[in-house]
Amino acid sequence: MAGGALAAAALLWTAGAADPDPVKAPNFRTSATGYNDTPVLPGQKWKVHDIDRPQPTVVTPSAKPGGPPSDAIVLFDGKDLSQWEIPAPPPNRKKKAAARPTSWKVENGYFEVAPGAGTIRTRQKFGDIQLHIEWASTPVIYGDSQWRGNSGVLLMSRYEIQVLDSDHNPTYADGMAGAIYGQWPPLVNAVRKRGEWNAYDIVWEAPKFDGGKLVRPAFATVFLNGILLHNRQEVIGEMAHRVVGVYKGHEPEEPLALQDHDVPVRYRNVWVRRLKGYDQP
Ligand code: MG
Repeated sequence: MAGGALAAAALLWTAGAADPDPVKAPNFRTSATGYNDTPVLPGQKWKVHDIDRPQPTVVTPSAKPGGPPSDAIVLFDGKDLSQWEIPAPPPNRKKKAAARPTSWKVENGYFEVAPGAGTIRTRQKFGDIQLHIEWASTPVIYGDSQWRGNSGVLLMSRYEIQVLDSDHNPTYADGMAGAIYGQWPPLVNAVRKRGEWNAYDIVWEAPKFDGGKLVRPAFATVFLNGILLHNRQEVIGEMAHRVVGVYKGHEPEEPLALQDHDVPVRYRNVWVRRLKGYDQP
């Protein structure tokens, strides 16, 4: 094996279970690395313990808990909002406008909603994703109920996981922090005290449309600070206020957006992983 290939092999193994130079116990034993005389798994093309089944892709976890793993797309690393933009307003015959760079504030490793500047969205589009995003309410409060620390993670720019200061802030249950807004309250209120950082980990399964007609709804799994809020919950439709949200056909991939609800809220450490199915190295 050439030096380069050796180095590549060594790199490949750094995140795996194998040790490149393991210490072997005196009673070291060997085991088959797969079989081809076993039954086929129901609904799969693979046999039980199939020796030919592809090995999953190696992904190196971050050195820090909550940090982006090796295959993540980092959307904010503490420095700038170059991955984000403010969308153009709806087409207007008199005035043409294009998407523009966001004017949200970046400081001290986080960014903050600039009230009234507009909802921001990613330049890239996403379908099924794992999303990590951290947020904090400001220590100063600007109102109560839905005016207290309101923002939101808008998956595909239209399905909202609510961001709200829910520390001693009564509001309707399906509008508090972690709610699938207007549809499902979080299973528990796991929000930290005002001003402290919260972390969302979200698994998003995009809805599927055929010619604008819904053929499979979206599903959301949400953790707040490591605590389960939604367990692959079916999403009823788009985010809506005082009416039942409905699905409106859209592309398989759409930008991720963060809501400007006219009060400051802070975000940091934002990354996504595009999700794929089993046996797709
Ligand atoms: Mg909101």
